[in-house]
Amino acid sequence: MNIIELFKKLLETKTETPNDGGLLDFITTYLPGYTAIRIDVEDVKNLFIYKEFSQGDHLCFAGHVDVVPAGKGWDTDPYEAYEKDGYIYGRGAQDMKGGVASFVQAVKEAEHFNGTLSILLTSDEEGEALHGTVKALEYLKENELLPDYVVVAEPTCEKNFGDAIKVGRRGSINGYLTIKGKQGHAAYPEKAINPIHQLSQVLGEMAGVNIDDGDDFFSPSKFIITDIRSGMEVTNVTPNELKMMFNVRTTITTQTEVRSFVAKYLNGLDYDLKLTQGSYPFQTDTNTKVVENIDKAIESVTGIKPKHSTAGGTSDARFVAQFGID
Ligand code: ZN
Repeated sequence: MNIIELFKKLLETKTETPNDGGLLDFITTYLPGYTAIRIDVEDVKNLFIYKEFSQGDHLCFAGHVDVVPAGKGWDTDPYEAYEKDGYIYGRGAQDMKGGVASFVQAVKEAEHFNGTLSILLTSDEEGEALHGTVKALEYLKENELLPDYVVVAEPTCEKNFGDAIKVGRRGSINGYLTIKGKQGHAAYPEKAINPIHQLSQVLGEMAGVNIDDGDDFFSPSKFIITDIRSGMEVTNVTPNELKMMFNVRTTITTQTEVRSFVAKYLNGLDYDLKLTQGSYPFQTDTNTKVVENIDKAIESVTGIKPKHSTAGGTSDARFVAQFGID
């Protein structure tokens, strides 16, 4: 198989989270000479496969084979690799079967390496990610197999191939706010406590506002409201409570600071605030071996010096970083 055939094979296998469609078995067979360890947890499939070429650093390529459901609105079968004008279309072509095909083929064709090469794959990145990469890393730590460097082959280009790599990301804090009022009749507002009116006094000062100023690597943390609901869909009764959900993507601001931000505006109101940490922020130094070598490789192939970005969404690099791996 060449890389295009391999890529098409991955695309044409339906792997909606947490199903791997048998791909982890296929990749194990595709890489003879590599030692495979399966770290399946409940219905999630995880594969770690490695080969020690010589003494030296351990470089691991990581990723996921699962995709989000195809949804509606496709012109072609989402699970058929459709080729047009030099592009290949299919569910997960970008995120991230293109990346997986690239590193699987690279590892297969590697004849020499100063150290150990490995691949870590999961079928649970797009889902809860509770039994995926993090569980595999825990296993690798217990068995002294943790890599020195990990490259997660998620798509990161902004406009042109090679123009950006991610060296970190912001963490994510989720907020669930309940403002408690007192139900009443619209004709007697003085007898009720209307949580909609209470929130609306300060809503403009909170929505989309920067909680911190950011720094050289990360943009400011914003207070992003994702849901507000209250009332009984009637015009003559004011509600008993109001629920609001929000999210803060941040490196600098902690849960304590989110709490004081909310308290500053809702001071004096009867409310409950629950916060959960979706993920913690991380950043890899840009002068480390892995970043320097990726920069060089990209420049030699594309002629572009990639930007070191920390913007955008999540990846399993968040788990890798927690194990102190670049
Ligand atoms: Zn992805």
